[in-house]
Amino acid sequence: EPQILWLRRDLRMADNPALHAAAAQGPVVAVYVLDDEAADHHAYGGASRWWLHHSLESLGKSFGKRNSRIILRRGDAVEELCKVAKEVGAGTVHANRHYEPWWRKAQGKLDEKLDLQLYDGNYIFPPGFITTGSGDPYKIYTPFYKSSKAKFPPRDTVPEPETISSPENWPDSDVISDWDLLPTKPDWSGGIADFWEVGEDAAHTRLSEWEDDVADYDDQRNLPSIDGSSRLSPHLHFGEISPIQIWHALKHKRSDGWETYESELVWRDYAQNVIAQFPAYPSENYREDYDRIAWRNPDKDEEAAGDLRAWQKGQTGYPIVDAGMRQLWQTGWMHNRVRMIAASFLIKHLLIDWRRGEQWFWDTLVDADYASNATNWQWVSGTGVDSNMFVRIMAPLSQSEKFDAAGYIREYVPELNDLSDADIHDPPDEKRGDYPDKLIPHKAGRERALEAYRAMKNG
Ligand code: FAD
Repeated sequence: EPQILWLRRDLRMADNPALHAAAAQGPVVAVYVLDDEAADHHAYGGASRWWLHHSLESLGKSFGKRNSRIILRRGDAVEELCKVAKEVGAGTVHANRHYEPWWRKAQGKLDEKLDLQLYDGNYIFPPGFITTGSGDPYKIYTPFYKSSKAKFPPRDTVPEPETISSPENWPDSDVISDWDLLPTKPDWSGGIADFWEVGEDAAHTRLSEWEDDVADYDDQRNLPSIDGSSRLSPHLHFGEISPIQIWHALKHKRSDGWETYESELVWRDYAQNVIAQFPAYPSENYREDYDRIAWRNPDKDEEAAGDLRAWQKGQTGYPIVDAGMRQLWQTGWMHNRVRMIAASFLIKHLLIDWRRGEQWFWDTLVDADYASNATNWQWVSGTGVDSNMFVRIMAPLSQSEKFDAAGYIREYVPELNDLSDADIHDPPDEKRGDYPDKLIPHKAGRERALEAYRAMKNG
């Protein structure tokens, strides 16, 4: 009997437990359903759609080489999967577990209609596996990390199936170009296309380059001018590579750099652990007292709207923030240290609700991830279950100096190219040229944020 394979963010052939199980049990009908309605606010944003298009094309080719294919459908995932199952006479759907609330709901519904077999494929340890002594999920990262470490090594990788057999008849499939996933107006994807190779093979090529660099990760990961991190995040997000494959590929290279890198992969697991407990995390403050913060509201206040736009476009007058925001727009990715600085600047200096930033990142990051994006935004804003304190306000100019961002600024803010290393972090007025003035001076921004915090605390 044909077996349905429901693909989502697991767009790979190797170490794909659901594919492996389906192929062992019968002819495989792989299905990808684009279901924007169920995801609502978190339907894929522009950069993710660009990636998804290329990733599905690439995986389609891999299935093609095995005389198989991916069936593309658009609409309600449960309805479409049931239709395909009926068309091919299948009763079983194999899928790797996902934790986004709309997919959890779909998994629940599908399980009532067909035999749904779920597998753990996308995390080192699946949410629910790492628990406290009394069996509860962790809320805080550090004990979660320690517990995870005690459970290493993770499972072995699952090999790519030797054969993938085909059903007697293939059901209809959409053509991917009809999905209009690639942007046209404005077509900003030029820079993104130059920057990334999409797909499972590209992910493994990147991993093999990274194997030589991981030892330096500890020293270099915080320096935006250096390419010191793995840049595997979009590949991981779309499941073109699994963290378990990365872990096993690097396990022979133990070093301080690798230990820190491993702890970042655990952050990714931790973020899933957070949304598995708090599904609305990307849209609700975990700490409810922050509902009382008097954010400046861009829908009602023109000055705030202008500030939000300037932040989005990289025109805040703070070179490190602007370099990061322009890197994001041009490449679909931003260095982690700069993500923290840019996020903190929006929330504290501009006093704009973190959810505005979460949404902008959702639309523009190629690695936009329901769990990781929200967990990090709530960490920076101080509203999260595990978070930095709101009153710890990052100073963008000294961060820029401390992490030696001159080269990075020159790359993404070319109008400051001629400034010296001493001037570039905080250009003096007479050397700014067309570069904008600061939206608000550091001290004034800091004080306004602290005032809003005090007002919130005083009720
Ligand atoms: P590396 O430094 O090489 O790390 C390896 C992998 O570990 C990453 O690919 C990623 O999967 C994981 N990882 C690293 N840091 C974190 C972290 N802090 N939280 C969760 N996972 C992490 N990461 C996303 O994948 N998607 C997002 O939507 C996202 N939004 C963010 C928003 C803000 C405001 C901030 C401050 C961080 C965000 N991050 C997000 C985390 C981090 O910035 C990126 O994962 C990292 O920059 C990706 O680059 P890399 O692959 O070179 O990372």
